[in-house]
Amino acid sequence: MIEARVTLEGSTYRADLAAGIDLALPVDFNGRNPSFYDLPQPRLTAVEGGGFVGDTARGGSCNCSTLELTPHGSMTHTESAAHLDRNEATIAEAAPNQLLVCQLVSVQTELFSDGNESYNGFEAAEDWIVSAAALQANWPTLPGVQSLVIRTLPDKGKARRDYGQQPAPYLSHEAIELIVARGVDHLVLDLPSLDRHEDGGTLPNHRIFWQLPKGGRAAAHQRTLTELALVPQGIPDGLYLLDLQVPRMLCDAAPSRPLLFSLELER
Ligand SMILES: [Zn+2]
Repeated sequence: MIEARVTLEGSTYRADLAAGIDLALPVDFNGRNPSFYDLPQPRLTAVEGGGFVGDTARGGSCNCSTLELTPHGSMTHTESAAHLDRNEATIAEAAPNQLLVCQLVSVQTELFSDGNESYNGFEAAEDWIVSAAALQANWPTLPGVQSLVIRTLPDKGKARRDYGQQPAPYLSHEAIELIVARGVDHLVLDLPSLDRHEDGGTLPNHRIFWQLPKGGRAAAHQRTLTELALVPQGIPDGLYLLDLQVPRMLCDAAPSRPLLFSLELER
Protein backbone atom coordinates (compact mmCIF):
# COMPACT_ATOMS: atom_id res chain seq x y z
CA MET A 1 0.00 0.00 0.00
CA ILE A 2 1.25 3.46 -0.88
CA GLU A 3 -0.91 5.77 1.13
CA ALA A 4 -1.42 9.41 0.26
CA ARG A 5 -3.46 12.09 1.96
CA VAL A 6 -5.37 14.47 -0.24
CA THR A 7 -6.84 17.70 1.06
CA LEU A 8 -9.74 19.01 -0.93
CA GLU A 9 -11.71 22.09 0.03
CA GLY A 10 -11.08 21.49 3.75
CA SER A 11 -11.75 17.73 3.79
CA THR A 12 -9.01 15.11 3.98
CA TYR A 13 -9.14 11.92 1.94
CA ARG A 14 -6.95 8.83 1.92
CA ALA A 15 -5.80 7.38 -1.41
CA ASP A 16 -4.08 4.06 -2.03
CA LEU A 17 -1.70 4.83 -4.88
CA ALA A 18 -0.73 1.15 -5.18
CA ALA A 19 -4.22 0.11 -6.28
CA GLY A 20 -4.89 1.72 -9.65
CA ILE A 21 -8.08 0.78 -11.51
CA ASP A 22 -7.42 0.54 -15.24
CA LEU A 23 -10.10 2.07 -17.47
CA ALA A 24 -8.33 1.26 -20.75
CA LEU A 25 -9.42 -1.44 -23.12
CA PRO A 26 -6.49 -3.65 -24.09
CA VAL A 27 -5.40 -2.97 -27.69
CA ASP A 28 -5.71 -6.38 -29.29
CA PHE A 29 -3.73 -6.75 -32.52
CA ASN A 30 -5.66 -9.90 -33.39
CA GLY A 31 -8.76 -7.83 -34.02
CA ARG A 32 -10.93 -8.20 -30.94
CA ASN A 33 -11.63 -4.52 -30.31
CA PRO A 34 -14.66 -2.30 -30.59
CA SER A 35 -15.30 -0.79 -34.01
CA PHE A 36 -16.54 2.73 -34.71
CA TYR A 37 -17.17 4.07 -38.23
CA ASP A 38 -15.42 0.91 -39.51
CA LEU A 39 -12.09 2.66 -38.99
CA PRO A 40 -8.99 0.46 -39.47
CA GLN A 41 -8.30 -1.99 -36.67
CA PRO A 42 -4.89 -1.81 -34.92
CA ARG A 43 -2.09 -3.60 -36.78
CA LEU A 44 1.31 -4.84 -35.74
CA THR A 45 3.83 -5.71 -38.46
CA ALA A 46 7.30 -7.10 -37.84
CA VAL A 47 10.04 -4.85 -39.23
CA GLU A 48 11.99 -6.51 -42.05
CA GLY A 49 15.00 -5.43 -44.10
CA GLY A 50 18.74 -5.82 -44.58
CA GLY A 51 18.60 -9.44 -43.46
CA PHE A 52 16.78 -8.56 -40.23
CA VAL A 53 13.35 -9.76 -39.26
CA GLY A 54 11.81 -8.34 -36.09
CA ASP A 55 10.04 -11.54 -35.14
CA THR A 56 11.63 -14.18 -32.90
CA ALA A 57 9.07 -16.73 -34.09
CA ARG A 58 10.63 -16.37 -37.54
CA GLY A 59 14.24 -16.57 -36.35
CA GLY A 60 14.82 -12.91 -35.59
CA SER A 61 17.09 -11.91 -32.72
CA CYS A 62 14.30 -9.86 -31.11
CA ASN A 63 10.77 -8.66 -31.68
CA CYS A 64 10.49 -5.23 -33.29
CA SER A 65 7.28 -4.06 -34.89
CA THR A 66 5.60 -1.17 -36.63
CA LEU A 67 2.27 -0.31 -35.02
CA GLU A 68 -0.64 1.14 -36.97
CA LEU A 69 -3.21 2.75 -34.70
CA THR A 70 -6.39 4.69 -35.48
CA PRO A 71 -7.18 5.88 -31.97
CA HIS A 72 -10.72 7.17 -32.64
CA GLY A 73 -11.95 3.86 -34.01
CA SER A 74 -11.16 0.96 -31.76
CA MET A 75 -9.34 1.78 -28.54
CA THR A 76 -9.44 3.88 -25.40
CA HIS A 77 -8.10 7.24 -26.53
CA THR A 78 -7.83 10.83 -25.38
CA GLU A 79 -8.31 13.75 -27.73
CA SER A 80 -7.76 17.49 -27.62
CA ALA A 81 -9.46 20.38 -29.41
CA ALA A 82 -7.06 19.67 -32.30
CA HIS A 83 -9.55 16.93 -33.22
CA LEU A 84 -11.69 19.79 -34.59
CA ASP A 85 -9.10 22.40 -35.50
CA ARG A 86 -5.40 21.92 -36.26
CA ASN A 87 -4.64 25.34 -34.74
CA GLU A 88 -5.77 24.12 -31.32
CA ALA A 89 -3.59 22.45 -28.67
CA THR A 90 -2.32 18.99 -29.56
CA ILE A 91 -3.01 16.14 -27.17
CA ALA A 92 0.62 16.40 -26.01
CA GLU A 93 -0.05 20.00 -24.98
CA ALA A 94 -3.48 19.43 -23.47
CA ALA A 95 -2.79 16.22 -21.53
CA PRO A 96 -2.54 17.11 -17.82
CA ASN A 97 0.77 16.55 -16.07
CA GLN A 98 -0.89 16.00 -12.71
CA LEU A 99 -3.35 13.75 -10.93
CA LEU A 100 -6.93 14.99 -11.24
CA VAL A 101 -9.72 14.92 -8.70
CA CYS A 102 -12.41 12.95 -10.44
CA GLN A 103 -16.00 11.88 -9.93
CA LEU A 104 -17.25 8.54 -11.31
CA VAL A 105 -20.96 8.68 -12.08
CA SER A 106 -23.18 5.92 -13.49
CA VAL A 107 -26.04 7.03 -15.70
CA GLN A 108 -28.90 4.97 -17.09
CA THR A 109 -29.30 5.84 -20.76
CA GLU A 110 -32.82 6.69 -21.90
CA LEU A 111 -34.79 6.94 -25.13
CA PHE A 112 -34.51 10.34 -26.75
CA SER A 113 -38.31 10.47 -27.04
CA ASP A 114 -38.77 9.86 -23.29
CA GLY A 115 -37.21 13.19 -22.27
CA ASN A 116 -37.46 16.77 -23.38
CA GLU A 117 -33.79 17.47 -24.02
CA SER A 118 -32.29 18.44 -27.36
CA TYR A 119 -29.80 17.57 -30.07
CA ASN A 120 -28.99 19.24 -33.37
CA GLY A 121 -31.86 17.87 -35.45
CA PHE A 122 -30.18 14.65 -36.58
CA GLU A 123 -31.56 12.73 -33.61
CA ALA A 124 -34.16 9.97 -33.85
CA ALA A 125 -36.87 9.16 -31.30
CA GLU A 126 -35.41 5.67 -30.74
CA ASP A 127 -31.87 6.92 -30.01
CA TRP A 128 -30.43 6.27 -26.55
CA ILE A 129 -29.00 9.28 -24.79
CA VAL A 130 -27.34 10.42 -21.58
CA SER A 131 -29.57 13.25 -20.40
CA ALA A 132 -28.67 16.18 -18.18
CA ALA A 133 -31.54 15.20 -15.90
CA ALA A 134 -30.16 11.68 -15.32
CA LEU A 135 -26.61 12.96 -14.95
CA GLN A 136 -27.61 15.62 -12.44
CA ALA A 137 -29.60 13.13 -10.35
CA ASN A 138 -26.51 10.95 -9.80
CA TRP A 139 -23.75 13.56 -9.67
CA PRO A 140 -23.09 14.95 -6.19
CA THR A 141 -21.99 18.56 -6.03
CA LEU A 142 -18.46 18.64 -4.65
CA PRO A 143 -16.11 21.58 -5.09
CA GLY A 144 -12.70 21.06 -6.66
CA VAL A 145 -13.62 18.21 -9.02
CA GLN A 146 -11.75 18.66 -12.31
CA SER A 147 -12.75 15.54 -14.16
CA LEU A 148 -15.75 13.31 -14.69
CA VAL A 149 -16.00 9.65 -15.70
CA ILE A 150 -19.44 8.67 -17.00
CA ARG A 151 -20.32 4.97 -16.90
CA THR A 152 -23.37 4.41 -19.11
CA LEU A 153 -25.90 1.72 -18.22
CA PRO A 154 -26.77 -0.88 -19.30
CA ASP A 155 -23.17 -1.92 -19.17
CA LYS A 156 -22.96 -4.90 -21.52
CA GLY A 157 -20.64 -5.80 -24.39
CA LYS A 158 -18.89 -2.47 -24.78
CA ALA A 159 -15.38 -3.91 -24.94
CA ARG A 160 -15.89 -5.44 -28.39
CA ARG A 161 -19.00 -3.78 -29.72
CA ASP A 162 -19.40 -3.00 -33.42
CA TYR A 163 -20.95 0.46 -33.23
CA GLY A 164 -21.86 0.31 -36.91
CA GLN A 165 -24.27 -2.56 -36.16
CA GLN A 166 -25.40 -1.24 -32.81
CA PRO A 167 -25.19 2.57 -32.62
CA ALA A 168 -23.96 4.06 -29.36
CA PRO A 169 -25.81 6.33 -26.97
CA TYR A 170 -24.64 9.94 -26.96
CA LEU A 171 -25.11 13.02 -24.78
CA SER A 172 -27.90 15.56 -25.11
CA HIS A 173 -26.79 19.17 -25.59
CA GLU A 174 -28.10 19.87 -22.09
CA ALA A 175 -25.88 17.12 -20.64
CA ILE A 176 -22.67 18.51 -22.15
CA GLU A 177 -23.71 22.05 -21.19
CA LEU A 178 -24.11 20.86 -17.58
CA ILE A 179 -20.64 19.28 -17.67
CA VAL A 180 -19.12 22.53 -18.96
CA ALA A 181 -21.07 24.62 -16.43
CA ARG A 182 -19.78 22.46 -13.56
CA GLY A 183 -16.16 23.10 -14.50
CA VAL A 184 -15.11 19.70 -15.83
CA ASP A 185 -11.92 20.02 -17.88
CA HIS A 186 -11.26 16.33 -18.45
CA LEU A 187 -14.18 14.13 -19.46
CA VAL A 188 -13.97 10.34 -19.74
CA LEU A 189 -16.70 8.32 -21.50
CA ASP A 190 -17.27 4.61 -22.09
CA LEU A 191 -18.87 5.60 -25.40
CA PRO A 192 -17.13 5.96 -28.78
CA SER A 193 -18.20 9.60 -29.06
CA LEU A 194 -19.72 12.53 -27.25
CA ASP A 195 -21.83 13.00 -30.38
CA ARG A 196 -24.30 10.95 -32.38
CA HIS A 197 -22.62 8.73 -35.01
CA GLU A 198 -24.52 10.62 -37.72
CA ASP A 199 -24.60 14.22 -36.56
CA GLY A 200 -24.54 16.04 -39.88
CA GLY A 201 -20.76 16.31 -39.66
CA THR A 202 -20.75 19.16 -37.15
CA LEU A 203 -19.80 17.36 -33.87
CA PRO A 204 -21.99 19.80 -31.93
CA ASN A 205 -21.27 18.44 -28.43
CA HIS A 206 -17.52 18.44 -29.08
CA ARG A 207 -17.83 22.13 -30.03
CA ILE A 208 -19.79 22.92 -26.86
CA PHE A 209 -17.16 21.15 -24.74
CA TRP A 210 -14.22 23.02 -26.29
CA GLN A 211 -16.20 26.26 -26.78
CA LEU A 212 -15.42 26.33 -30.51
CA PRO A 213 -15.21 28.14 -32.80
CA LYS A 214 -13.48 30.98 -30.97
CA GLY A 215 -10.30 32.88 -31.70
CA GLY A 216 -7.16 32.29 -29.61
CA ARG A 217 -6.56 29.63 -27.01
CA ALA A 218 -8.89 30.09 -24.07
CA ALA A 219 -8.58 27.79 -21.04
CA ALA A 220 -11.48 25.76 -22.42
CA HIS A 221 -9.29 24.78 -25.35
CA GLN A 222 -6.96 22.86 -23.01
CA ARG A 223 -9.72 20.39 -22.13
CA THR A 224 -9.43 16.71 -22.98
CA LEU A 225 -12.01 14.12 -23.93
CA THR A 226 -11.43 10.40 -23.46
CA GLU A 227 -13.63 7.96 -25.35
CA LEU A 228 -14.04 4.16 -25.44
CA ALA A 229 -12.86 3.75 -21.85
CA LEU A 230 -14.40 0.99 -19.76
CA VAL A 231 -15.08 1.03 -16.01
CA PRO A 232 -14.53 -2.49 -14.61
CA GLN A 233 -17.49 -4.27 -13.00
CA GLY A 234 -17.86 -3.72 -9.28
CA ILE A 235 -16.19 -0.31 -9.11
CA PRO A 236 -18.56 1.96 -7.16
CA ASP A 237 -19.49 5.50 -8.10
CA GLY A 238 -17.61 8.05 -6.04
CA LEU A 239 -14.61 10.27 -5.75
CA TYR A 240 -11.25 9.19 -7.21
CA LEU A 241 -7.90 10.48 -8.33
CA LEU A 242 -7.47 10.13 -12.09
CA ASP A 243 -4.11 9.62 -13.77
CA LEU A 244 -4.91 10.22 -17.43
CA GLN A 245 -1.91 8.53 -18.98
CA VAL A 246 -1.44 9.89 -22.49
CA PRO A 247 1.72 9.53 -24.60
CA ARG A 248 3.25 12.81 -25.71
CA MET A 249 2.14 12.85 -29.32
CA LEU A 250 1.89 16.01 -31.40
CA CYS A 251 -1.48 15.22 -32.93
CA ASP A 252 -5.19 15.35 -32.10
CA ALA A 253 -5.60 12.04 -30.27
CA ALA A 254 -3.58 9.22 -28.77
CA PRO A 255 -4.29 5.88 -27.17
CA SER A 256 -4.53 6.34 -23.41
CA ARG A 257 -4.74 4.46 -20.15
CA PRO A 258 -6.81 6.29 -17.53
CA LEU A 259 -6.11 4.97 -14.03
CA LEU A 260 -8.39 5.64 -11.06
CA PHE A 261 -7.35 5.60 -7.40
CA SER A 262 -10.16 5.58 -4.86
CA LEU A 263 -10.44 8.40 -2.33
CA GLU A 264 -11.87 7.72 1.10
CA LEU A 265 -12.95 10.49 3.40
CA GLU A 266 -10.94 10.48 6.61
CA ARG A 267 -12.81 10.81 9.88
ZN1 LIG B 1 -12.44 10.25 -30.62
